Amino acid sequence: MPLAILAYHSHHVVGPDYAANDHVAFAADLESLTDAGWRIAPLAEVVRRHAEGGASGTERVVALTFDDGPVYDVADVDHPCYGRQRGFANAMRDFAARRPGGQPGLHATSFVIASPEARATMEAHADPAYTWLGPGALDQTWWNPAIDSGLVAIANHSWDHLHPALAEVAHGQDARGDFARVTSVADADRQVRAAARYLAAATHGRAAPYFAYPFGHHNDFLAGEYLPALGASVCAAAVTTEPRPVAPTDSPFRLPRLVCGADWANPDALLARLAGR
Ligand SMILES: [Zn+2]
Repeated sequence: MPLAILAYHSHHVVGPDYAANDHVAFAADLESLTDAGWRIAPLAEVVRRHAEGGASGTERVVALTFDDGPVYDVADVDHPCYGRQRGFANAMRDFAARRPGGQPGLHATSFVIASPEARATMEAHADPAYTWLGPGALDQTWWNPAIDSGLVAIANHSWDHLHPALAEVAHGQDARGDFARVTSVADADRQVRAAARYLAAATHGRAAPYFAYPFGHHNDFLAGEYLPALGASVCAAAVTTEPRPVAPTDSPFRLPRLVCGADWANPDALLARLAGR
């Protein structure tokens, strides 16, 4: 059974059209995935089916993920140039209203950054040529309502993303911009375990046990030793940005993901990617 995981960025709004605006792309993709026979399921189901060795029959199952945790994952936003953008969760509600029963398992997982200081700095240093982050965009106040809605899970995208805009990152050698340099238990604890702990407290223990590697950067230490040793309640699977569908031989701690914009820029290209082309 074909399995796949897609990634969207709700702060990718640099134009009015599909290729430059993940809100436009996301709403269109809900339609084209459904028309093409892909069933949208929670990431937990894709992880489980992968662990079971794939899937029965020819059913095609895709999970939706969002990265970095802007409130635009769930809330509409008025962009100064491109007008009102429909939050991803609202686009899912619009789809469900338009096509009742069309995707009964409609759900997405939002990978958020834990550190409040890192989020505040990233927000202040966003480059509008690449991304749109208005004041308060990386607040965490939307996390619990999102979980309550049953539409969006909250999961781990590290402590501070080792983001280049930060004056200081939680890493012994200041490995800004390079998550593959998280190669010790001490650094991994600061980036992964501390974030998991923060998310668990912020969500009253309801964060989903999945990790998205910042920048998609992974290494053998994290995928082969550290993350599996955390236990399934903290980390049951991790996702990269290797641009292809999930293969039966993939490690659950290195599941590939296709990224909107980077890996496809129109609906036909998405379907071709999902078909492994
Ligand atoms: Zn990210």
